[in-house]
Amino acid sequence: MKKTEEEWKKKLTPEQHRILREKGTEMPFTGQLLHNKKKGRYICAGCGNELFSSDTKFDSGSGWPSFYAPASEKNVETKADKSLFMKRTEVLCKKCQGHLGHVFNDGPKPTGLRYCINSAALNFKEKK
Ligand code: FE
Repeated sequence: MKKTEEEWKKKLTPEQHRILREKGTEMPFTGQLLHNKKKGRYICAGCGNELFSSDTKFDSGSGWPSFYAPASEKNVETKADKSLFMKRTEVLCKKCQGHLGHVFNDGPKPTGLRYCINSAALNFKEKK
């Protein structure tokens, strides 16, 4: 999925654009989906790709929505990120290459992973 910078700016809010397209990070404890406990699917705010399920969401205390697994390995991509002098692993939407957040190795069972994701990179679809 390829969009021009102009098209992304039209489609996304400034905050969504800053995170998804410019690899920004929202302020911790400010995201709209941080405390969302409803059942449903978390989809990419950029392209609608299914990214996470409420079944794997947990409270990490970090201030960002956290999941221990993606909805499907096929829908997310990870990349080494050496910015800010830290070694981290970036998480991207595979379909639109939007920046979602980072994944760390200190998550709960069964995966031991913590996908630390910006609320603004996601839209929530409640299960009806
Ligand atoms: Fe996407």
